[in-house]
Amino acid sequence: MPLARAVGDRSLREHYLISKADFSLEGEKAVVLTFDDGPSKYIGSFLDVLNEEQVHAMFFWQSRLLHHKRPWKRTIAEGHMIGTHTHRHPNLARLNADKQRKEIETSRREVERIIGQPIQHFRPPFGQYNVDTLNIAAAMQLDVVLWDVPSYDWELKKDPDKIISNVVENVENGSIILLHELEQTLYVLPQLIKELKRGGFSFRTL
Ligand SMILES: [Zn+2]
Repeated sequence: MPLARAVGDRSLREHYLISKADFSLEGEKAVVLTFDDGPSKYIGSFLDVLNEEQVHAMFFWQSRLLHHKRPWKRTIAEGHMIGTHTHRHPNLARLNADKQRKEIETSRREVERIIGQPIQHFRPPFGQYNVDTLNIAAAMQLDVVLWDVPSYDWELKKDPDKIISNVVENVENGSIILLHELEQTLYVLPQLIKELKRGGFSFRTL
């Protein structure tokens, strides 16, 4: 199947699939913190830490978890970006195009209804996608955001300090860092941010 379209003189893949950012034009050394699989019960505490450290981040939410008590207004008001991470978190590469479209459309509609503004970013669950996923995202004008630095936070409940070293030892200018709205991630987040700042990094969203 041909890709839906190209954007300008760049290929669709380059335009819509992002696994690392480029802040070199701005002359800045920066990274992007991304948090998947919320909004979780820890979201308020994540916002407290980010606010304390004056850091803006990106959240990829599963729309099935959009409980009305989650502080989504605050998330937007404090300068963070919200993207979609599908409705039910399936492996999209195993679904046909219609089912993929439904997952992404439903989640986009639900997240936009709640936050009251269009979203621009989509992260496929498990980083799994195929050409249908890219075509669907392109048709919806959603950038597909992957990552270049996985923190492995989901495996490190009992060894959270390793989350910090996994990130700090692999991060580069423009890195997109994969984190989750988990308790162990919250626990190390202040230290992680401090160490990245010490390494000269600032924090940006896409
Ligand atoms: Zn996920």
